[in-house]
Amino acid sequence: MKNLTIRAKITLWFITILAIILGLAYVAFYLSSENVSREIVRNELEETVTGDMDKIVYHPEEKNPESADGSIRIPYEEGMLEVDQEFLALINGIGVGLWSSDRKLIYGEDLIREESGGIPLVDSRTRTIPSGPDMFYVYDRKLEVKGVEGLWLRGSVDRDQRHEEVSVLFRSSLLLLPFLILLAAVGGYFITKRSLYPIRRLMEAAGNISTGSDLKQRIDAGEGENEVQQLTRSFNGMMQRLDEAFEAETQFTSDVSHELRTPMASILAQCELALEDENLSPEEARDALLVIQRQGDRMNELIGDMLMYTRIDRGQEMYPREPLDLTELVRETCEDFEMSCENQLELATDLDQNLMVTGSEPLLRRLLLNLLENAVRYSDGTPRIRAELTAEGRMLLLKVSDRGIGIPPEHLPKIFDRFYQADPSRTGEGTGLGLAMVKEIASAHGGSVSVASTPGEGSTFTVRLPKRSDTVQLPKLSS
Ligand code: ADP
Repeated sequence: MKNLTIRAKITLWFITILAIILGLAYVAFYLSSENVSREIVRNELEETVTGDMDKIVYHPEEKNPESADGSIRIPYEEGMLEVDQEFLALINGIGVGLWSSDRKLIYGEDLIREESGGIPLVDSRTRTIPSGPDMFYVYDRKLEVKGVEGLWLRGSVDRDQRHEEVSVLFRSSLLLLPFLILLAAVGGYFITKRSLYPIRRLMEAAGNISTGSDLKQRIDAGEGENEVQQLTRSFNGMMQRLDEAFEAETQFTSDVSHELRTPMASILAQCELALEDENLSPEEARDALLVIQRQGDRMNELIGDMLMYTRIDRGQEMYPREPLDLTELVRETCEDFEMSCENQLELATDLDQNLMVTGSEPLLRRLLLNLLENAVRYSDGTPRIRAELTAEGRMLLLKVSDRGIGIPPEHLPKIFDRFYQADPSRTGEGTGLGLAMVKEIASAHGGSVSVASTPGEGSTFTVRLPKRSDTVQLPKLSS
């Protein structure tokens, strides 16, 4: 069963279910036909006996056994009983007999003659009587014939005589059953083949994509919304995302190699210079080593940032989300940052209290640190920074403003790109990954980041994060 094609499986299921339904229908039909045919036989019996009731007349004075109109005359008591020629004595397997008051059959048919003597006469009630291997219906009617008393009509019939006819029909139609199922199987097979045709196309296209590794290939879903078209669209969507992810990966790898190449080239150049110069003084050697150390540090920083950046996406396992008091986190991070800068900056905070988010503490701390580090890095003189945290509807707004050099408008759209550095004179200071990381962290938390900046006046970065619904707002906490 496991190795069968879907088409064969559907056909097999279809035939099995069809055979079960047909089988059950046959059994139900057979059982109900028995009851129905008995009911019909019983009605016929009652109608025939009742119809014969007015076909009997008694002539008390009559002695002549011959009648002029062809009816039958039977001597009875002093006179003659006359049975009309329309009296039905044996019709459709029903026998009707005329019985005398001393329970003798005077005229007509009795199909259970042997048993009949022992069966009491009961008016208008059909009874079931065994006779030989069969069961018979017996129906009696008491006659009201003028001039005589105690005459009865008794009808009898084999209860199952009609059902036997049905059974023969039933058995012959049973022979047709395998042919019917075979026909349904062939029909079902072709219908399934036709309906699964689009899936076959999807399979072929997927096969082509996997062998040719062409992630740009898409399958035409056509108009409509049936299951296969939906599947095709999902497949195309998946290919689109795979393609984008693959391109992003390639781009990232190329960006990384490019970024690592500069410090590496610098290290190699210093080594080469130092090794080639036979008269290298200890000071010159020390200078070369300092350059190598600086570039090594830069590479180290770059690798650290890259590692963190690539892990943000896999956030759930690496950085599990938990309920966090963002006010507390911002306050602590600002304090630590201020201390690490040995108070070489003015950092003011204006934080609404008890603002809760669901997030990863290390990631959100990194987000804020990147913004604070940039604010310091891109400020001349003593950096003046302000960190604000407020709630706005269902979002929390974290603003970091500085009075630094600002960003020219033409650079604004690109500063969140990886490795983009707007100010060429300061490229040695950062890795170009700080803001890209901020953007990734914000969006990994269901938020966003934006910037407003005026060159020469300063910049304000605003991070929006979804507020936890259990946040209870308290008064401000300012410093
Ligand atoms: P970097 O490591 O170079 O700081 P970022 O991704 O953090 O990289 O920032 C990208 C660029 O955006 C920076 O090179 C800088 O030109 C500009 N920038 C970021 N923050 C500020 C700021 N607070 N003031 C002025 N320019 C900024």
